[in-house]
Amino acid sequence: MKYISTRGAEEISGAEAIIKGICEDGGLYVPSSFPQLNESDFERFAQMEYKDVAADIIGKYLDDFDKEELSKACESAYARFYGEPAPITEIDDATYVLELWHGPTCAFKDIALTLLPHLLNISKKMMKVETKTLILVATSGDTGKAALEGFRDVDKTAVCVFYPNEGVSKLQQLQMRSQEGSNVFVSAVNGNFDDTQTAVKKIFLDKDIKAELTDKGYELSSANSINFGRLVPQIVYYITSYVKLIEKGAIEYGDKINFCVPSGNFGDILAGYYAYRMGLPINKLICASNKNNILCDFINTGKYDVNREFYKTMSPSMDILVSSNLERLLFELSGRNAEIIRDRMNKLKTEGAYEISKKELLDMQELFAAGWASEGETQAAIANNLEVNGYLIDTHTSVGSVVYGNYVTETGDTTPTVILSTASPYKFTADILKALDVKTTDDLFGAVKKLHSVSGVEIPVPISDLKTKPVRFESVCDKDEMADSVIAFAGRLSDGR
Ligand SMILES: *Cc1c(COP(=O)(O)O)cnc(C)c1O
Repeated sequence: MKYISTRGAEEISGAEAIIKGICEDGGLYVPSSFPQLNESDFERFAQMEYKDVAADIIGKYLDDFDKEELSKACESAYARFYGEPAPITEIDDATYVLELWHGPTCAFKDIALTLLPHLLNISKKMMKVETKTLILVATSGDTGKAALEGFRDVDKTAVCVFYPNEGVSKLQQLQMRSQEGSNVFVSAVNGNFDDTQTAVKKIFLDKDIKAELTDKGYELSSANSINFGRLVPQIVYYITSYVKLIEKGAIEYGDKINFCVPSGNFGDILAGYYAYRMGLPINKLICASNKNNILCDFINTGKYDVNREFYKTMSPSMDILVSSNLERLLFELSGRNAEIIRDRMNKLKTEGAYEISKKELLDMQELFAAGWASEGETQAAIANNLEVNGYLIDTHTSVGSVVYGNYVTETGDTTPTVILSTASPYKFTADILKALDVKTTDDLFGAVKKLHSVSGVEIPVPISDLKTKPVRFESVCDKDEMADSVIAFAGRLSDGR
């Protein structure tokens, strides 16, 4: 399997695509073709553990990776989960929830970020790259912590995370400040997420900083979701969900199902599209947005237009206006036409908008449906799910639940549907308690205990453990001090301090 850029650059191997992350021409790497699944694959998968299905499916894309190494990588990544990595809960006859938050940071990004460091190290070995990798992340919450946990103590890597001092939830802040590992650095930044993100982007482009880091044996890399190594692990749970619904007797092999996906950067739902292209029988992929409903508008009209207000919502990981991974879907819809993609991405840059053709729109709508949930609807669905189904969902999953409910009302579609649950409700305890109309205390662990007592839902180990973990990173810096922090961190590591 080779990898090509959505904007036309020459094809490269999977290992190179994972090391590079993004192509020099600004495009994203996509596989040159989609491996095909058949009935016997599904029969095999039914007998296998998640980690082995993962190694099998990922191995179809990274087919020049050593099978043994890939199996070991999947084993060590998914051994870090508490029980089954992607269990399914039945809500009613037609609705299932796929819980993707049983990993070390209690959000779905763990599925890819526990594996990515291993994929990166295997790739570097294959390409004979000797430099160490310094992962630099600006985070609004979930990604930073998942990157820290994924890369911590992984050989030949280091990870440096900046988060806005005003911006992440109390629990997310504590998760990062108490981060363990000998190759990690965390700092708060005075300012908001945009300030932090802009400063990180500047560091990536600064040649002097790059030279100083090279001097210390490090090369900068990002762990964001445009890297193919983050996308490919997410294909797996779409396929294992299907296998589980067959096992439950909910469907027979060949029957179509729907997936409803709370979306932000469009990575998660794109993985579902890749599963579809591999032959997974999918009726509809339902894209769920919050008040930042740009994806929903795009799927319904074919126009992508970022000239609109940006809202901060209670589902912050979906507060995005430019969904990078959409470019990979556009590439497929255009018949893999790099010229069209270059033109549209150029329009996006200069005018903040582009439009796809009527044919592309109709093709997209054959498979994709879309809706969005207001803040009020999101709150109401959290309370309603607990009351009616005895099932507690987080704010992001609640957006999915609202959009699915509206979809069924509008279409009457009774196809069995899997809603992807992307975070543990405990990560957003304050907002959940508010939605449940429970008086909350200012004390973080008091609130967690309260949520446990009203919902009966077990508190995830990584969250209860936080109570006793020492705080290791209390520093707060200004934007213009971030580069110095990164260089000093690399210096400490290369001195072995
Ligand atoms: C990242 C994230 C999402 C959005 O996923 P995309 O791949 O960016 O579309 C949804 N929910 C949670 C909790 C997340 O962390």
